[in-house]
Amino acid sequence: MEQKCIFCAIASRQIPANVIYEDEKVLGFLDINPLTEGHTLVIPKHHVENVFDISEEDLKHISAVAQRIADKMREAINAEGVDLFQASGQAADQQVPHFHLHVIPRKTGDQLSLHEWWVSQIKKVEPEKLNELARKLATEEIKEVIKSEEKPKPKERSKEDVYWIKRATQLT
Ligand code: AMP
Ligand code: ZN
Repeated sequence: MEQKCIFCAIASRQIPANVIYEDEKVLGFLDINPLTEGHTLVIPKHHVENVFDISEEDLKHISAVAQRIADKMREAINAEGVDLFQASGQAADQQVPHFHLHVIPRKTGDQLSLHEWWVSQIKKVEPEKLNELARKLATEEIKEVIKSEEKPKPKERSKEDVYWIKRATQLT
């Protein structure tokens, strides 16, 4: 447990929260500043800061718990959809430095204009820049595929080439 970590304090029940899910490793509780009714946070009980630190096993478990909570939201509060959101690092606007996955129940017309905001944030990008970024981010296997696609394709033979090749073979 990390001193002064608010989510560690919630996990060890030193401060109260509206808990909706608990198992040996994970806690799910309602966000005190919800974006929609039922907005939930899923956290590992042990202190781990972000996606760079959490183990793959714990991340899988938290994802599975989020899925169960999403199902429950559909069944119990008529959610029609959910948004899953996770911020890792100050630059990514993470406010509480203890890993948490937001599960945000959504209904048509719920006044959370995420799409509007998203569209307003889109940056223009040239195809060359996208290609460059893909080359940087691709796995080694995908890099090989990209390289092979970039190799110049063998030039198609013109009628003239074919004629001269035929002549050359007839002469030998
Ligand atoms: P993030 O910006 O992804 O780090 O989100 C932090 C979230 O934690 C915010 O949505 C806060 O409303 C929520 N939060 C902070 N303190 C508490 C608390 N004591 N109980 C429940 N939710 C909290
Ligand atoms: Zn913590």
